[in-house]
Amino acid sequence: MTGLKNLYIDGRWSGSVAGLPPRQVLNPADGSVLATVCVASADDVDLAVRSARTGFDNGQWSGMPVRERGNKLREIAQILADNRVNLSHIESLDAGKTLKEAGMDVDDAVSAFRYFANIADLDAGRMVDAGDPNIISRIGYLPVGVCALISAWNFPLQTLTWKLAPALAAGNTVVIKPSEVTPLSTLKLLELLEQADLPAGTVNLVLGPGAQVGTALVQHPGIDLISFTGGSEAGQKVMEAAAKGIKKVTLELGGKNPNIIFADTDFHTAVDNALTAAFVHSGQVCSAGSRLIVQDQIYDRFVRELARRADSIRLGHGQDPETECGPLATAEHRENVERHITQAIADGARLVAGGVRPGEEHLQSGNFLRPTVFADCDRSMAIVREEVFGPVVTVERFSTEEEAVFLANDTEYGLAGAVWSNDASQVHRVAEQLRHGTVWINDYHPYLPQAEWGGFGKSGLGRENGLQGLNEYRETRHIYQNIAPAPSRWFQD
Ligand code: NDP
Repeated sequence: MTGLKNLYIDGRWSGSVAGLPPRQVLNPADGSVLATVCVASADDVDLAVRSARTGFDNGQWSGMPVRERGNKLREIAQILADNRVNLSHIESLDAGKTLKEAGMDVDDAVSAFRYFANIADLDAGRMVDAGDPNIISRIGYLPVGVCALISAWNFPLQTLTWKLAPALAAGNTVVIKPSEVTPLSTLKLLELLEQADLPAGTVNLVLGPGAQVGTALVQHPGIDLISFTGGSEAGQKVMEAAAKGIKKVTLELGGKNPNIIFADTDFHTAVDNALTAAFVHSGQVCSAGSRLIVQDQIYDRFVRELARRADSIRLGHGQDPETECGPLATAEHRENVERHITQAIADGARLVAGGVRPGEEHLQSGNFLRPTVFADCDRSMAIVREEVFGPVVTVERFSTEEEAVFLANDTEYGLAGAVWSNDASQVHRVAEQLRHGTVWINDYHPYLPQAEWGGFGKSGLGRENGLQGLNEYRETRHIYQNIAPAPSRWFQD
């Protein structure tokens, strides 16, 4: 035992039973140590799953009337809202986000709890007309069971609560595993959840690297459903584990998201939003508009203005109100993004902004990288095809509407995309043809808890948010009752 108690199992904080060496959580803006946390062993994962199983089977949460569960979720939403400043500060320090970005993530978390508190109750089931007055037929929903919730480091609180709120609303119990890179807002969330007094075993938390702790969790036979947000490689392993155990699985994976700009759109609005699309949270956003597809007539001017604006983005610590972009999550991740940049240059992409680490003295100990713009890109280049997950945007050129649609759909991903034009029929036609889970018209990035979120193709399986986001966590049961039973006379007496 290390003395650290950062696992939450059966309603109590505990340490790792194996006493594995603890892990330091680093501030990506300056490399300082923010916290030291314990790492779970396979035995701890087992304890957490058993706790969730007991919590599920005893019915204290799963058997609670939906309305009461909804009230608990509303209570949680209020607790999170009351702690917005504290939670945003933690998220900003740990994930390197600006306070503004982190505050929006807390707001998203609050909205998710409020939304799922309401719809679980409203959508409690339905009667089915069997065509016979003696038959009562109804559809109802049951929780799936014990869910493993695995979240990513870019939006630690938001990606977790988009899973936790519907899972709890549907009556499941859960074991959470946040990314080892950014566990601090999840730890705070668990601390705050204690105020809502959920039954022991409803929410459990294990910490540690995905390769060990995540693997132990998804392979555990006591898990009924896995909800995963992360990269394709880990997503594939999660799906393999799910297949072995015939577990339900939802995967929210990466994207290479097209942002189509027609020449007739308001130029400065489009450039401004192209920057937001690509560089919010330093591009570490699954739905980042990392592929700009710009029409011929404005292409050169657009590239010039985009590069000028990108060059003037202010980098810094997330807690500094002047900061517009924070650092990348880890030193290894920055090196990975730099490898993509080197390859893009070798492939012939024209670097027009960034591509380097910033020169300022006070940024030297953080994982900063200048917002980077590549012009004259085409589909043969890895930088156009592969998810970089950093502050890098590519610009491709198109002339006709058909060409724009073709380029936008020419990706193995299909998470999100956008189209900008003042021609109402044109944007409608284009949006209808885009094979992406979310399509924005003359906007980029807004999410709604009421609207399904998820991807086509290699961007994943299933949806979060909206009614489908709740249904992922429910089993559907049909009860058919004959109120006038009589011998069927199928077989002779
Ligand atoms: P990873 O795939 O590396 O990790 C995601 C989570 O899975 C982390 O908690 C990680 O733990 C864990 N993990 C890693 N390997 C395994 C495994 N074999 N079994 C079980 N769990 C595992 O992704 P990143 O954290 O790097 O996140 C970035 C990716 O997430 C990007 O591709 C991004 O597009 C995607 N994403 C998708 C979203 C969507 O809504 N579609 C939203 C946000 C991000 P640990 O980090 O501790 O090793």
